[in-house]
Amino acid sequence: MVMRYNTYSEYLKHKYGAKVYKLPVSIPVTCPNRDGTCGVNGCVFCGEIGAGYENLPATISVQQQIEMNRQHIAPKYKAEKFIAYFQNFSNTYLPVEVLKEYVLQACAPDVVGIALATRPDCIHPAYLEMLADVRRDKKIDISIELGLQTVNYHSLQKVNRGHTLAEFIDAVLNIHKYSFDICTHLILNLPWDSMEDVLENAKIMTVLNIQQVKLHALYIVKGTELAKWYQQGKIQLISKEEYIERVITFLEHVGPNTILQRLIGRAPAQNTLFSNWETGWWKIRDAIENEMHIRDTWQGKKCDYLDGKAVKRFV
Ligand code: SF4
Repeated sequence: MVMRYNTYSEYLKHKYGAKVYKLPVSIPVTCPNRDGTCGVNGCVFCGEIGAGYENLPATISVQQQIEMNRQHIAPKYKAEKFIAYFQNFSNTYLPVEVLKEYVLQACAPDVVGIALATRPDCIHPAYLEMLADVRRDKKIDISIELGLQTVNYHSLQKVNRGHTLAEFIDAVLNIHKYSFDICTHLILNLPWDSMEDVLENAKIMTVLNIQQVKLHALYIVKGTELAKWYQQGKIQLISKEEYIERVITFLEHVGPNTILQRLIGRAPAQNTLFSNWETGWWKIRDAIENEMHIRDTWQGKKCDYLDGKAVKRFV
């Protein structure tokens, strides 16, 4: 079947000429939305261990984590090169020199890239300057993964993100000045978002020239504020079919060059009240691809809103 959107695996294979796999790395960081700097309880969906449920503990050195994960992942996925993925919590929320040490530890001959996940309000030019030096000295690609979840700033408030859309735009404009690729994380089924928000998500990713996007379906981790709301019936989740519809709409409207790291996240089955409609993530991905094939649609098909749509006929 012909791929109807840009997959991350193909992009990496083309860029590095080999199979590349991300190795998760943990460092001892927290998040300004948890330690009281901008909030104490974190985002309503964030569990105690953040996003890194597959990660090794941060007490193990970065070098050792890469070594251990490489041994496990390389034969399993036939990967030849790697991206060190600083995944958990806000990985730029620590002094710049300390972060530099961790990033340098991740530089190894078969590590072609470093991906740093963080929040929009943890992007500062001093950090970008340091990362640009490392990129130059170590000849290694560096990308920044920004959690946003939705462009709807009313929903951001409900989620208790502790930042609005403006901080995201500020971070993106700063990162672009240093030419690092950006991957934005979005949840397409937040209970307060509609299809209109999905469309706006796609348009804003394109307009801001976000190179990569990771789409997730919301999962409900036990013990979170969201779990409480879910059990009290205060929030409703859309069906799997509606999620598939939203992803297809997103893909049709996002720019044709955007790379999709994921169409749905790998949710942890344990410790959740709800995750991916109790269906394997790959089955939902396959259903999306299949549906796009049946409809004969593709990424960017409806990306017609750039460069003065209303006056194009006069030019
Ligand atoms: S920004 Fe990330 S780490 Fe911080 S509370 Fe939200 S989801 Fe958790």
